[in-house]
Amino acid sequence: MVPPTLLHDFERLLGPDRCLTDPGVLLAYECDGLTHFKVRPSAVVFPTTTAEVQAIVRACVKAEIPFTPRGAGTGLSGGAVPAQGGVLIEFARMNRILLVDAENRVAVVQPGVVNARLSETVRPLGLAYAPDPSSQTVCTLGGNAAENSGGPHCLKYGATTNHLVALEVVLPDGDVVRLGSERAFDNGIDLRGLLIGSEGTLGLVTEITCRLVPIPARIETLLAPFATIVDACRAVSAIIAAGILPAALEALDERTIKAVESSVYRAGYPANAGGVLLVELDGHPAEVDAQSARIREILLEHGAFNIEAANDPVHRAKLWKGRKGAFGAMGRLAPDLYVQDAVVPRSKLPEVLPAIGRICDELGLPLANVFHAGEGNLHPNISYDGRDPDQVARVVEAGRRIMMVCLEAGGTLSGEHGIGLEKQEFMPLLFQDDDLQSMRLARAAFNPQELLNPGKILPTPRACVEVRSAARKPA
Ligand SMILES: Cc1cc2nc3c(=O)[nH]c(=O)nc-3n(C[C@H](O)[C@H](O)[C@H](O)COP(=O)(O)OP(=O)(O)OC[C@H]3O[C@@H](n4cnc5c(N)ncnc54)[C@H](O)[C@@H]3O)c2cc1C
Repeated sequence: MVPPTLLHDFERLLGPDRCLTDPGVLLAYECDGLTHFKVRPSAVVFPTTTAEVQAIVRACVKAEIPFTPRGAGTGLSGGAVPAQGGVLIEFARMNRILLVDAENRVAVVQPGVVNARLSETVRPLGLAYAPDPSSQTVCTLGGNAAENSGGPHCLKYGATTNHLVALEVVLPDGDVVRLGSERAFDNGIDLRGLLIGSEGTLGLVTEITCRLVPIPARIETLLAPFATIVDACRAVSAIIAAGILPAALEALDERTIKAVESSVYRAGYPANAGGVLLVELDGHPAEVDAQSARIREILLEHGAFNIEAANDPVHRAKLWKGRKGAFGAMGRLAPDLYVQDAVVPRSKLPEVLPAIGRICDELGLPLANVFHAGEGNLHPNISYDGRDPDQVARVVEAGRRIMMVCLEAGGTLSGEHGIGLEKQEFMPLLFQDDDLQSMRLARAAFNPQELLNPGKILPTPRACVEVRSAARKPA
């Protein structure tokens, strides 16, 4: 439990409205988008300024109580789950856009600004913020920084780390530092890069300077249906091998198409398709036209039929609605949804996808795939009922087996959702002891007492030995 003196400090600093302690209300904060891991916080506090974050952190350190930053709680690896007895520092109300500098193409924001709101704000200036996670209407830029989030358009534009030029960070002892530079040229050690993707384990991001990009002169979206998702994946590799880099290259399988088409996210995807690709091209009109012609040839060569092209914003938005709403559409199928996230070499997609299908068949679980195909970043989704312990156990086992298949194919543990609590146990299978020890040393340099977001990402050395020996045993 949080000591009464600490609660008193919070209430004096923030007032009762910005410090929640009612156990019923705290229920809403016990997990993120991955509902397997649940810990109810002792208190949730809502700072609105950097000075308040500093004061909260210092009060927690003095009381030796762990604290965890939280944005919108859409994370899918348990990153924002509090430690036992810990405090959640919720950034949702620290949500002001502080500056838009069109001339220098940067914006300065507080961490609780919702991703899509930044692009909406700068659109009249002909600008956009490129990283676009599918959760972008809800997730925060602070959470995006902590997860180094991706999104469909990160294929061409790069993930979050390529778009954040400077950060203001409250360190776990309450000091404030500025990392990176508005000039976008870092000198010295790139600590900005180290913070991005550290999943809230090195510091609390309190201000972000984002790079903005011009809205392209021409954008075209192609919808290409295929008989099977494997045919669609072969076309993906062929497009990249032809030297073309689309702005986005996304795939949805048959079960996802059906879920989307029977939901409010209906996009007009054909009912007779075993899989569809969404290919977006952007740039100078002449370049888009040339790429579009070549890509259509490749798609047809690989079995696409009835290719649909969208050139105006309304038509394009309709095609994207199904992709962006796919997870929401699956929410209608069962009370819970497990979203796995792994990366394999793009060329391995045609063999890895059927292997994942076999795992789910063996375990009697319904599988639907919607993923960033151009990057080989898979999202196998399993609908289940979290109230049934047997279903939960099978989902966890499916997640483990899917990870093993992806690692064996030369892949990695996460494309964008992070390691959090969920994938710690797999870290020793990807990294050597020395690699993990250097990460522990980096964390200790920032977070020596491990009061900030403890127990995330890095397994203990003892757990590493156990995990590796378990992996060596025959299944
Ligand atoms: C439907 C759906 C679709 C999704 N699609 C994508 C996608 O396309 N691409 C993608 O990358 N992700 C996707 N995600 C995952 C998730 O939305 C991202 O990881 C997102 O960045 C999390 O943001 P958040 O504000 O919800 O952060 P939270 O979930 O609240 O927190 C995530 C992590 O960030 C830390 N954190 C939060 N704020 C701060 C801060 N100010 N300072 C330091 N650490 C902080 C937390 O401690 C935690 O470790 C999706 C999730 C859902 C539910």
